[in-house]
Amino acid sequence: MLPSPMKAEVISVGTELLLGEILDTNARYLGAQLPALGIDLYYISKVGDNLGRLSEVIDRAWGRSDLVITTGGLGPTEDDLTREAIGRVMDEELQPDPDLERQLRDFFEKRGATMPERNIKQAMLISSSSSIPNPRGTAPGWWVERDNRLIVAMPGPPVEMERMWDKEVVPRLQRHPGAPQSVLVTRTLKTAGIGEGHVDEFVSPLLKGTNPSIGVYARADGVQLRLAAKARTEEEARQLIEPVEAEMRQILGAFVWGADDETMEYAIGEQLRSRGLTLATMESCTGGLLASVITNVPGSSAYFRGGLVSYATEMKTEWGVGADVIAEHGAVSAETAQAMARVARERLGADIGVGITGVAGPDSQEEKPPGTVHVAVDTGMIEPQTLSYQFAQSREAVKRRAVATALTLVRRTLLDWEGGA
Ligand code: ATP
Ligand code: MG
Repeated sequence: MLPSPMKAEVISVGTELLLGEILDTNARYLGAQLPALGIDLYYISKVGDNLGRLSEVIDRAWGRSDLVITTGGLGPTEDDLTREAIGRVMDEELQPDPDLERQLRDFFEKRGATMPERNIKQAMLISSSSSIPNPRGTAPGWWVERDNRLIVAMPGPPVEMERMWDKEVVPRLQRHPGAPQSVLVTRTLKTAGIGEGHVDEFVSPLLKGTNPSIGVYARADGVQLRLAAKARTEEEARQLIEPVEAEMRQILGAFVWGADDETMEYAIGEQLRSRGLTLATMESCTGGLLASVITNVPGSSAYFRGGLVSYATEMKTEWGVGADVIAEHGAVSAETAQAMARVARERLGADIGVGITGVAGPDSQEEKPPGTVHVAVDTGMIEPQTLSYQFAQSREAVKRRAVATALTLVRRTLLDWEGGA
């Protein structure tokens, strides 16, 4: 049996967060970090710069969590109140620490300034706290330890907080006697071309296992399987995941296109590169987004020839889409998408052409409702492939979905066209 994990809670401090002026990316960052350390995160709170309410939130957290992490409110100004609130909850007095005070005065002197007296706040400690260095700013963090419980107070600016967490707090947490005794390792397998229900059904014999536990999630670029294993070490956790992952890959075969942070554009890029094939695009409703996404991958110049954005119907015919095709089927049609794919391939001298046409919305076009999208891939070697969808989403979301669909279709074409190697 693994010992029960530490229970953590995150408190983000700042009135700006409540007003929606800034997003709480610190909490998101910490939320993503804690599982790998084997620490369970149970609560995330946001609270404004008010001593009473801040103390109340910290007090509640101190009463129910082993580890309380705060970010923000460590600056020199009057509304930076995190230290004061922690002092109040612990019922301990804030005193300037001579070493910290000297460091702080040095910091200003080196920059040819004298320290504003209110900055002395940043040299304060209580008897249960020690300071955590912050080379990226003036506010040191606080490491508070009492009654087998911890409070870690870090500055609000993400560059300062993330460094402090990574370089100072994580090593201290790992050395701590109440330290997490287990780690959580996750592995995500990404699939395309298969629905959530089917994935679930195929891997159902594996879903019963608890370590790794398995989750099935539908995403814009396909269904994902998330394997999460808990063990004493990362190595052990990986060993638990390995056989289950292998079995999943066996069952799902070519439906799996990537893992973890891999993107579809990256996976396709690898395929194109290794097979020495090139790609070109002709886009209408996505306005060049597909070309943009493809070129997010470093080294994409090895296989991406370029893209045409033919937004107006005349531009489509000017580049070589048959006026008869458009007259017969409309600018928004599978046939036009197919012609665009062929034009992209021929005009840009690529092995594979992709065409996208559709109605991004919010208005209809050619009596086709917003969200109608047709994508096509043409190789000149195998039967051209098309996919048509009706996405019920905002304009930008329709564009993103259209791009994801096009990438999926390119991948499918690459699978079908093994002869291109
Ligand atoms: P400073 O010394 O800069 O005043 P601080 O520790 O007092 O730092 P805050 O005053 O609360 O921190 O926030 C400073 C800035 O840090 C905010 O204006 C914001 O840009 C960023 N910030 C604070 N909290 C968060 C958060 N939870 N998520 C993302 N950014 C944040
Ligand atoms: Mg501040």
